[in-house]
Amino acid sequence: MADYETVVGLEVHMQINTKSKVFCECSAKFGSEPNSNTCVICTSQPGAIPILNKKAVEAVVKTGLALNFTINKRCTFARKQYFYPDVPKNYQITQSDPPLCSGGKLAIIVGGKEKIVNIARIHLEEDAGKLVHEIGGKKLNYSLLDLNRAGVGLMELVTEPEISSPQEALEFLKELKNIVEYLETSECSMEEGKMRCDVNVSIRPVGQKEFGTRVEIKNMNSISGIRDAITYEVERQKEVLNSGGRLTQETRLWDAEERITKSMRSKEGALDYRYFPEPDLVPFDLMDSFVEELRKQVLELPKARKTRFMKDYGLSEYDAAYLTSVRMIADYYEESLNVLKNEKSGVLAKKFVVAAKTLANWISTELSAKLNASKTSIADAPVSSRNLAKLVSLILDGAISGKMAKTVFEEMYEKSTDPEMIVKEKGLMQISDESAIVKMCEEAVSESPKAVAEFKSGKERAVGAVIGLVMKKSKGQANPQLVNKILMEKLKT
Ligand code: ADP
Ligand code: ZN
Ligand code: MG
Repeated sequence: MADYETVVGLEVHMQINTKSKVFCECSAKFGSEPNSNTCVICTSQPGAIPILNKKAVEAVVKTGLALNFTINKRCTFARKQYFYPDVPKNYQITQSDPPLCSGGKLAIIVGGKEKIVNIARIHLEEDAGKLVHEIGGKKLNYSLLDLNRAGVGLMELVTEPEISSPQEALEFLKELKNIVEYLETSECSMEEGKMRCDVNVSIRPVGQKEFGTRVEIKNMNSISGIRDAITYEVERQKEVLNSGGRLTQETRLWDAEERITKSMRSKEGALDYRYFPEPDLVPFDLMDSFVEELRKQVLELPKARKTRFMKDYGLSEYDAAYLTSVRMIADYYEESLNVLKNEKSGVLAKKFVVAAKTLANWISTELSAKLNASKTSIADAPVSSRNLAKLVSLILDGAISGKMAKTVFEEMYEKSTDPEMIVKEKGLMQISDESAIVKMCEEAVSESPKAVAEFKSGKERAVGAVIGLVMKKSKGQANPQLVNKILMEKLKT
């Protein structure tokens, strides 16, 4: 049986993050009362004239710049003809040639190796409305039309057929989503349909230049679903070819429950959309200053931020990668770190690298575990960045031990309270007063003659029992480093 290679190309639609729609002033908000965000333009009334939203153009250009695209200054729109009830005009306003952005690239890391995926284009277009076939889970025997989404701005990004595995597709989409979220040009939430993907899949015998027949899986809305659909589709295509069959170019749908793709319609060659220039939107040129202004706004992307975190905060690559994997996590970290930086405590100034690392650990372990468990976004975390900074500051000042900090954190998460208040209320203050610890150490030494004798005869580990006794006497509140230091001094003399 022949060895096959997987070829995947993605078409990604992202809803542009603007307040209003792309050709009218209606709100682009998700989840409003059906048909409440509509006007003569987005309901396609005869004679209504579209007016281009400048912010939508900005978002597409910004995204293009971040992904190394060439920006085509000439901006033209076209009509793409097709009939569908959720597009009352019977055409969609989109861009044909040139798109706003052409020839971009995105680097992804798969199996420790970097790969550059070339992206053919990003163009600006309008979204369609929505047909509603059920209400409150009840199937209707008629269809309802909601035009709130009609005319919302979309950017469509089309990759070259250069993605060679389900994992690469997953990494590509994760990285794209991360960058676009950083830019805030789209919210990219797949659950709300703000990022949707058509996945083109084909296979070819290893070594063959010509592409195999491709299948297009339409309207995918989960990244892991896309990975699974490609995995399934590749296996299906292999089976067809290995049993002597032929593949047909067709559109398929992913059934997330049965976990298989199903044929929807065949697609022999390109559909004739009869693109022609949109007569109601005159072509115009973007000014250089417009593009350059946007270029300034895309300076720091996740990768650059990661490098800066390593350089400025002394973080490991692992920590920096985790923190910058999602913009909101990186923002939270830096807000929190700024609080620490502005503290008067001299200890922190000296221990900056320790503070940066301690804070990173609290976010990547305790906080993220809690957030994951309750499916909460860090933006809604019950522990504010300021309060987490205060907690870290209490730890670094030696006011509470790491163990106490965990108890305090539990309470902070439950009640969104200030750690200093919790420490005071619960009397959790760590004892760092040397004379008090010296006294407890002396008592403990005289109460543990056996352990002390063992220690003096060379069995260093015996000291553990004495430390334990001091901690017990202090109800766990003695500063462990101090206890250790004082006991050692006592026992060695
Ligand atoms: P269409 O509108 O017919 O879907 P597009 O040019 O918009 O055509 O999109 C084609 C997409 O399919 C691109 O992402 C491209 O990379 C991908 N593609 C083209 N040929 C193949 C192939 N043989 N196997 C997999 N993907 C392909
Ligand atoms: Zn409108
Ligand atoms: Mg397509």
